[in-house]
Amino acid sequence: MLNLNRKSMLNDLAARRFDLLVVGGGITGAGVAREASLRGLQVALVEQFDFAYGTSSRSTKLIHGGLRYLKQFDFKLVREAVEERQRLIQMAPHLVKVTPFVFPVYRGDSDSLLKLRVGLFIYDWFARMRAAVPHKMLSPGALLELEPGLRDDGLLGGAVYTDCRTDDGRLSLVVLQSAAGHGAVVANYAGVQSFFRGAGGRLEGAVVRDTLTGDLLEVRAARILAAAGPWADEIRRLDDPEASPVLRLTKGVHLAVPRERLPLGNAVVIRGRDQRIMFAVPLVEYSYIGTTDTDFSGRPSQVRGERDDVDYILDATNHAFPESRLTLADVTSLWVGLRPLLRPVGDASPSATTRDYALFQSQSGLVNVGGGKLSAFRAMASHIVDVLFPNTRSAANLTASASPLPGADGPLPGQAEWQRLAAQTGATTQQVEKWCARYGSALKQVVQYLPAKPDPDPALTWHRAMTLHAVQHEMAQRLEDVLSRRTDLLLFTDDNGRHYLQALAREMGSALGWSNDRLREEVAGCEKAIDQRKYL
Ligand code: FAD
Repeated sequence: MLNLNRKSMLNDLAARRFDLLVVGGGITGAGVAREASLRGLQVALVEQFDFAYGTSSRSTKLIHGGLRYLKQFDFKLVREAVEERQRLIQMAPHLVKVTPFVFPVYRGDSDSLLKLRVGLFIYDWFARMRAAVPHKMLSPGALLELEPGLRDDGLLGGAVYTDCRTDDGRLSLVVLQSAAGHGAVVANYAGVQSFFRGAGGRLEGAVVRDTLTGDLLEVRAARILAAAGPWADEIRRLDDPEASPVLRLTKGVHLAVPRERLPLGNAVVIRGRDQRIMFAVPLVEYSYIGTTDTDFSGRPSQVRGERDDVDYILDATNHAFPESRLTLADVTSLWVGLRPLLRPVGDASPSATTRDYALFQSQSGLVNVGGGKLSAFRAMASHIVDVLFPNTRSAANLTASASPLPGADGPLPGQAEWQRLAAQTGATTQQVEKWCARYGSALKQVVQYLPAKPDPDPALTWHRAMTLHAVQHEMAQRLEDVLSRRTDLLLFTDDNGRHYLQALAREMGSALGWSNDRLREEVAGCEKAIDQRKYL
């Protein structure tokens, strides 16, 4: 059973010398750590906050080729992402869910029906015609049958095609678990605060701060990769204060509303008032909508959603679904991510800036990743390890790289299992499936933490078990880790998990030895965050 034990990981980090130190525990760092470990390299990974705290838990949560990048003739990018999507459906069927998407076309839209037809043909072609359901062009009537809430005024027709939805934070976590399963030493709340050098100025390691205790440790490695997403320029400056910026940060906001307020049957492509493409995606009892794309110039940790962002999304949704009449009062949650895009040459608009990635090597040997997509993380990681450690690629590790991720390495629970667990805990089958499907075959680990006597509130029974599991197996260290990245409480429940904060903090506190003060601090921190939507 996989168990991410932070204390022993920190001891290992200080005691060993590694081939590779990865800075950043988002999907990029996780992917590289996994890929390098599969090739037999000694790998360390440190993350300054929680795993996937950055962009990797704040995306649109799609595993997709990015249909709209075809317009920018980014065929290589789209092809790779579509191929990776097909692979990830096999590697993580518990987390990568095939979803139908409806794409309506209206009079005056910047994309014609013909363009859409050509684009979708190429899209399905890249999937070698193995898309779960090949695209189909639809008349206005057929489109409205699929999505009756859509505006019919000016509707020319459209298409239905397939892409995938995921839980981005959890996908990053299972990739890290896989890396650790192959020997990588990984720790969260461990931030690089400086580098140290050998003779000739070449980096030999990093001073890492345990941000929970303030302790410092030195991690030694032959190569250092910064996979710091939006923080890449900050890391470059740690290495060289004169380093010029390589990123253009753009802010992307999403919001979730109760599904009954936006009753979608499919994911739907909608447009902002400036014709930008966005998605409205159904997710069990909620529908979420996003994203915006505007330049951001502050410090990455301070990014916040603004009223203008919310208005932009609500306007677009109400325009696409006129009967919905959504207002701010309907918003259950919102989340904000920063795209670590490559700085464009010239003055391209944020949406026209490439989603491809690049590596930047400094004189001292630091390698920095800029750009990238969640969907193609595995292919990107494989290329990065090729560059860092030439000649380590073999047919065997290419096969291993596409092997199932934790949770897909055993039979997935089915209806009979949901029913049995529902009866055991007083929940409905749908509830158990909603809370637990994300664990896949690792569900049996969670079940071990169910109390002998369930609470009268089945949601509390299950969230207690998930919390203990998160502490013991997924390195959750703070209440906010459980609230926002190990469960759906923050983003996809009516009260953002407020009701359960005390109970779950007590559960975590007893497992992690928290004082009463620490416990109060954790609860107060989460309450404030919910109020200010600070983490969102
Ligand atoms: P991050 O996830 O930000 O990880 C970097 C990590 O480095 C952070 O956790 C940070 O805390 C850590 N770090 C920084 N400095 C230090 C330090 N000094 N020491 C230790 N750790 C440090 N892609 C898709 O494929 N599908 C989508 O639907 C999609 N939607 C998106 C929507 C939005 C709004 C945005 C912003 C992006 C979207 N993307 C999508 C792109 C995708 O989410 C990102 O490319 C990807 O998550 C970036 O991952 P990363 O690991 O590079 O960065």
